This record gives sequence, C-alpha cells and structure tokens, in this order.
Amino acid sequence: MNKIYLSSPSMGKNEHKYVSDVFKTNWIAPVGPYLEKFEQNISNQVGVNNVVALQSGTSAIHLALRILDIGKDDIVLCQSSTFIGSASPIIYQNATPIFVDSERDTWNICPNVLEEAIIDCINKGNKPKAIIIVHLYGMPAKMDEIINISKKYEIPIIEDAAESLGSHIDNKQCGSFGRFGIFSFNGNKIITTSGGGALVSHNKNDTNKAKFLATQAKEKDLHYEHNTYGYNYRLSNVLAAIGCGQMEVLNQRIKQKRNIFDHYKSSFSSIKFQNEPNGYFSNRWLTCGLLKNKKQRDNLITTLSKYNIESRPLWKPMHMQPLFKTSKYYGSNISEDLFNRGICLPSDVNMTEKDLNRIDKILINFFKI
Ligand SMILES: *Cc1c(COP(=O)(O)O)cnc(C)c1O
Repeated sequence: MNKIYLSSPSMGKNEHKYVSDVFKTNWIAPVGPYLEKFEQNISNQVGVNNVVALQSGTSAIHLALRILDIGKDDIVLCQSSTFIGSASPIIYQNATPIFVDSERDTWNICPNVLEEAIIDCINKGNKPKAIIIVHLYGMPAKMDEIINISKKYEIPIIEDAAESLGSHIDNKQCGSFGRFGIFSFNGNKIITTSGGGALVSHNKNDTNKAKFLATQAKEKDLHYEHNTYGYNYRLSNVLAAIGCGQMEVLNQRIKQKRNIFDHYKSSFSSIKFQNEPNGYFSNRWLTCGLLKNKKQRDNLITTLSKYNIESRPLWKPMHMQPLFKTSKYYGSNISEDLFNRGICLPSDVNMTEKDLNRIDKILINFFKI
C-alpha cells in the first residue's frame, strides 16, 4: 500500500520551467529576478507592500525580534500551542519567552489570557516587548481583540502565518494584521520552495533592515565593512523560482485542502473539527479535530499507521516542552486538552479518490458507523 502523507509537496506546471530559466541565465545566487518576482507575488497575495524572502519562517521571526531590538531581560509573549519555530528565535535573542494558552473557538491565543499576562508582567515591572501569535493549521486567530490589546498596551505583534498563507478574516489576509507577518515555504506547508520563508511589514524601514541583516549586515562600502553582525538568511533565486510557480497554484491548493476538510467533516460526526468562525476563512492546511479522549486518539493514530497512513497529535504546547520547563505560562488547560485529544488527519492534496476511500473505510470501521 502506498504511503498517505499529512501534507506533501505538490508542484504545478511551471516550477520546473522557471528553475530551468534560472540555470540558463546563471542566477544561481541569493539574488536575482525570481527573488524579486516571488516577493512581488507574496506582496500581491497578502496585501502588504514590503516583503523579504528568506531561508525559513524561523529566520523571519528571528529577524523580526532583532529589528524590535529584543534581547536579554526582555519578555516576549508567545502562543503556547504551536510549532517550536515560533518560539526558538526568542531563545536565539537571549530573551525570556512567556507562554499563553489558547481559546476553544479557533485553538489560537486566548485574548483574555493574553491581556491578563500583559497586566501581570507590567505590574511586576517588565512590560513584554512583543507578542507572537499563530494562525494554527490555517485558522486565523481572534485578531480584532488581539489588535485592540496590542494598541492598548503598545506592544507590537509578530504574526506567525507560517501555516496560513491565503487565510483571511473578512478578506484581510493573515500576515497583514501585525507589525510583522511571517510565512514558511517548508516542504510540508500549503505551498513550498523545499525550504523558505518570508517576512512582511507595512513599514519599508523594517524590510530594509531585514534585508541588511539577512545578508551579513554589510555596509555600502566596496570592501566589507561591519558595524553590527547579521545572518546568512536570504532565499536563493533558484528556490524563489519554485516559489513563483507555486504561487500560481495557491488558490487551487486552498480549494483542494478545503474540499478534503469538507469531506471529513460531512462524513465523521465523531470528530469535533476545528471551528471556522463567521467571516473567517481558513486555508485548511491540515484538517484537525478532537476525539473523545487521549486513548481514542492514540488508537486512531496507531490504526492509521498500520495501513501506512500518516497522522499526528496536535502541536505539543511549548509550556509542556522539557526545553521550556522553567518558563512562565498563563492559562488553564485548553492547549493541553487540544494536545491530548487532537489529531491531524491526512490532508495531502496528492491523495487520490482511492486513497480517500482507504482512509474512509478505516475511519468508518474505527467509529463503528
Ligand atoms: C513551519 C512553521 C514555522 C517555521 O517555519 P520554517 O520555515 O520551518 O522555519 C513556524 N511556525 C509555525 C506555526 C510553523 O508551522
């Protein structure tokens, strides 16, 4: 039996052609026309003027923190329920992460707990310097409330939209709400450049700084002059060529992902699927849901893997990670409950009708429908 994946790369018809063109023109470098074109494509999609294409989503978050001048003794609030890439840049900067619980509706950061955390930090004399929020599995977070809090306390938002390219709230795209938005084009994401990322900002100064820091912080002199240190974070023009092809199929991929979600949702009422509030639009990168309890969830993962079908628990919250065992956490047990009972189902756009039938049969038997 062929393996069925959670989410594997899916090339359109032009990626190969664009990469060949890169070879023909010898722009095999972290600079070139496809890099500029890819940035323009992202800008058009997200509705933010300034875009820097980078080697990963993690490096994009790192640059955002560096540009905000976040360092030792600074607090960064971060959604606990997420992938490590959201949080590890806080450690790169020697800052202190404090984690915040999710809310039941979207599974993303709870605005009430976020405000409680901010007030408590301020009372203790150390106002947080940034808030990292995530749109998990493509579902937009409660941005109205979050933006209000950000404005009220004057704390900038870094919007981790790694999983949510093309998702929106009332047609305002994820990644366009905060001071910074970040995207990932890793191999498992809705579109991919094998590895890649982007930082977007409404402020051109921010992206100019990001470009400078992403290319080793070289000053303008002909010799290499350095007043500060940077990173080698710029995306290759070769990979940007893949990205240009992938942007052409983004809307098609979203349609396919949403069809996969609709299929599961209409077939399996035993699973409590991630909600899409009114006015919200998720790209449904992964179809995720909650089962009765941990035992049932673990059984389902084991059963699917017996048939060579990949599935996984939801992200293990950062405050439960051994790495962050001494980090502070605000909230109750919502992100823990999501982790204990939640499952990511195969959401691969490369699945055939036959593959979906194979999954259906197993699920029908599992739930004894
Ligand atoms: C994938 C991902 C990242 C990191 O992106 P990379 O390109 O793999 O560095 C960050 N946050 C979330 C929520 C992700 O899913």
